[in-house]
Parts: sequence; C-alpha cells; structure tokens
Amino acid sequence: MNESQGFAIGDALLRAIGDRLAATAGPDGLVARTGGDAFAVLLPDLAPEASLSVELFGNRDGSFDEPFVIDGFELDVSAHYGYTRLGAEPRPPGGLLREAEVALHASRFGSPTNGQAYTSDLDRAARGRVELANELREALKNDEFELHFQPKVQLASGRLVAGEALIRWNHPARGFLSPGAFIPVAETSHLIVPIGRWVLDRACKTLRAWQDDGLDIVQIAVNVSVEQLADREFLMDVEEILARHRVPPSSLTLELTESVFADERARLRDQLDALHALGVKLSLDDFGTGYSSLAYLKDYPFDDIKIDRAFVHGLPDDPYSRDIAASVLKIASSIGATVIAEGIERPEQRDALLALGCSMGQGYYFSVPLSEEDFAWLLARRVPLPLKVA
Ligand code: C2E
Ligand code: MG
Ligand code: MG
Repeated sequence: MNESQGFAIGDALLRAIGDRLAATAGPDGLVARTGGDAFAVLLPDLAPEASLSVELFGNRDGSFDEPFVIDGFELDVSAHYGYTRLGAEPRPPGGLLREAEVALHASRFGSPTNGQAYTSDLDRAARGRVELANELREALKNDEFELHFQPKVQLASGRLVAGEALIRWNHPARGFLSPGAFIPVAETSHLIVPIGRWVLDRACKTLRAWQDDGLDIVQIAVNVSVEQLADREFLMDVEEILARHRVPPSSLTLELTESVFADERARLRDQLDALHALGVKLSLDDFGTGYSSLAYLKDYPFDDIKIDRAFVHGLPDDPYSRDIAASVLKIASSIGATVIAEGIERPEQRDALLALGCSMGQGYYFSVPLSEEDFAWLLARRVPLPLKVA
C-alpha cells in the first residue's frame, strides 16, 4: 500500500485496522502495533472454544468482513495470524509474545484460514531454524558450498545445450545437504542474498573457465529466489559479476518460480525488465505448481517456461498430465517462450514430450546433476545423452 498509494494511505489503513481490532477486543482487550504490518491482540476474556478468525476478522478465512474505505479507496484486507493460549501456566509478557510470533511465522506457510496455534514442536523448529541460519553464515565464510550442474538437452538428439547450477552444502558434520534442507531458511533469514551472490559468482567463474578451456559454449541457468530479486542491489550484482568474469549476459539464465507473481510489487517486474534488457535470459521454473498466473504471464519477459516434474511424472499414460503439458506448450508459444520439461526419468516420457512438440528437457534419464569436473568432461566429449553403458 505504501508503494502503490503512498505513505499517508498506508498509515491511515494501519490506524483503521487498529481501530477495528480495538473495537473487537472490547474494553478488557489490548491492541498494539508491534511493527510494520504486525499487530498483537490480547483477549483475556475469550472463551477457549471461540473461533479467533470470526472473533477478530468477521470471516472464517481471516479476511475482515467489511473492506476498509480510505480516502475513497475500498481496500480488502486479510491477515495471517498466530496465537497462543494464556492457559494455566504463567509466562512473562515477552514469552507470550514470542510464542505468538513463532505461531505467526508458521502460519505464513499455510493458508490464512484458521490461524496457527503455538505448540512446543513449532518452538523446537524455530530454534532449529535459528541454529541453521547461524551455521549457514559460517558455511559462507568457510566456503562449504558447491555447485553441481544438471544437463539440459535437446530431446530429439540428446545434445547437451545448457546446464542448471544447483547448490549443495558440504556440511562438516552432516555431509552433503540438498537445497531443500537449507534454502527455505536462507530465504527467511535474508542469507539468501549473500548465498545467491556466491552462486552467481561461482556459476559465472565456472562458465569463464569452460570457455577459456575451449569447451562447447553452453547456457548456464542459476536459480534465483524472489527475496534476492527484491533486493535493490541484485541488478548491480548481476552486472558486476558478469563483467568481472567477462561472461556475455546471454550465456546466463535466471530461473524464477511463480512466487514472482504473488508479489505484485511493480518494482519486481521492473527489476525483471531491467535484467532482461541487460541481455540475461529469464526462465519460469516449476510452472503449474504455484500461483495461477496466466493473467500476468504475458506481461513478463520470460524466455523459457519449465514444466514442473509433477506433470512429466504422469507421462505418457495419464491424460491429465498430457493435457497440462500440451497447454503449457500452447501458452509458451503464444508468448514466444521455449518449453523445457523437468524431471524426465524414462525414455517413454521423453517420447511423449517429443510427440507433444516439446524440444528441450532435463532429468535423471539424461543425467543427474554432476560435479563441475564431470560436467566439463561431458562438454569435452560432445557425446549425446544419456551415455550408453558399454
Ligand atoms: P529446481 O530448480 O526445480 O531444480 C530441479 C530439482 O529437481 C533439483 O533438485 C534436481 O536435482 C531435481 N531433479 C532433476 N532431475 C530430476 C528427475 O529426473 N527426477 C527427480 N525426481 N528430480 C530431479 P535439487 O538440486 O534438490 O534442488 C531443489 C530446488 O532447490 C531447486 O528446484 C531450486 O528451486 C532450489 N535451488 C537449488 N539451487 C539453488 C540456488 O542456488 N539458489 C536458490 N535460490 N534455489 C536453489
Ligand atoms: Mg530450477
Ligand atoms: Mg524446477
């Protein structure tokens, strides 16, 4: 609201939300704004079985039943919320707030429907995340990350034309960790910004080394979280890293997930346009798993669309998967994008994709993600994938 309508409207909206919460909380309740867009509400008289959603917002889905009218604008507001019960065991106010905060954090990963109650499991998970964030900070300093590269191939010929860089954490005690084990924490702790910078730097450095060695020129794709994109310095970082390693922008692809659509900040789209203007390629990852984005898709400068492996999985037999794949191909062609199928594990899946008109793909059938050395070996050999075992 601050960005689109200005601070005066944003402030007025915050006051109006505060007033409405205060009216609901009643004379014995207490409402405070604890920061940014967060409020804390103390309801000492609430019956234990009452529905907080209805009590606070008027609607079961966590949206206020009446829109707010500010300066002639009608604004629909919904909220995530976490709560803890006072119960029998006394805790200091700070402890209660912390419990509610832990629950609020967890509520962001679910639907905003019924709020999230505090539990000691959530607490343990929260402490685990803090610990992991500290370890990640050390990992950056100690150079514990590695990039693996998965080939992207032309489906018909098996020719390797690009690689996707995938981060791995060589944890001193726990061995190799896959990104699913630490990227979500990196994203919520903002560590994704320096980690993402490391990934870009290492990918470009590797690309430079391969080109210097006279290996076949390939595109390298790097995954970028929306938190990185939102960082004001991202564009400058990309420019600087490309220039420092003398990598042509068109050799780099940035893969983004549909979460870029969830955030309708105009700045995010400007950022994508600016990256595209730089000559960097943009790819929409895991298509079909996130927000329904068809309405916006045409306004974004994507060069590739990646069909999520969930749909490739059902090929060739499942008619629904086939229809989805066919639809993605149609949509992509109408915006002039190339389709890349992810997670191809069997030759029948490749054949089904080829029959549908999809020409590019990646997956264990062709190759698992490889170390830098193994990927360079493949580049030098120029053999089609999958490799034939003698
Ligand atoms: P993604 O970008 O969709 O990457 C593809 C994932 O699918 C990789 O998992 C890859 O190993 C796996 N995969 C490839 N072929 C197959 C297959 O045939 N079958 C199956 N079942 N899986 C296959 P990985 O490496 O665990 O990465 C998971 C996710 O973590 C990535 O999904 C990406 O979203 C994220 N990620 C990875 N590296 C980075 C990074 O450097 N930065 C950021 N922000 N995210 C990253
Ligand atoms: Mg990806
Ligand atoms: Mg993907």
